Order: sequence, then structure tokens, then C-alpha cells
Amino acid sequence: MAADSIQIRMQAERDLERKGYRFISRQKCAFCGREFEWWRTPRGKLIPLTACNLEPHWRICGRAFRNKKPSMQTAGYFRQF
Ligand SMILES: [Zn+2]
Repeated sequence: MAADSIQIRMQAERDLERKGYRFISRQKCAFCGREFEWWRTPRGKLIPLTACNLEPHWRICGRAFRNKKPSMQTAGYFRQF
């Protein structure tokens, strides 16, 4: 179970890096309390990915982004560790 989720996470990380995504930093979402990570896309934008599975964080926490993809600026909903 725990091993499976680590595998999911590692596979997702490999896929992202192969596509040219780069890890920037991990933060805790001040809205839902889950950890998420900022990744830089190949086109230079920042996207927040839920830490456990590296899916876009707005899929499970849309209200934190007002149901929109975030801009380059980190929103006030988030705080750095
Ligand atoms: Zn959240």
C-alpha cells in the first residue's frame, strides 16, 4: 500500500522529468493542508502538483485556485515551509 503509493509517485516523477518538467519546491497548501510541489513546465510556467501523486493540485483542491490554473505568482493561499 505505502510501497504502491511510492511507486506511483516515482513513476510520475520520472514521467514528468522525461517530459522536461523540473521540481522547484515543496509547500503545504494553506487551503487544504496537503503537501504540493511547484514544478516548472517545459514552457517555463509553474504548476502546483499534489505531492503524493504529482497530479495537478487543482484537481483535488480547485477552490485554492478559484477553479483556474494559477499564474506564475504563488497565490496567497499558499505559504512556504
Ligand atoms: Zn490544496
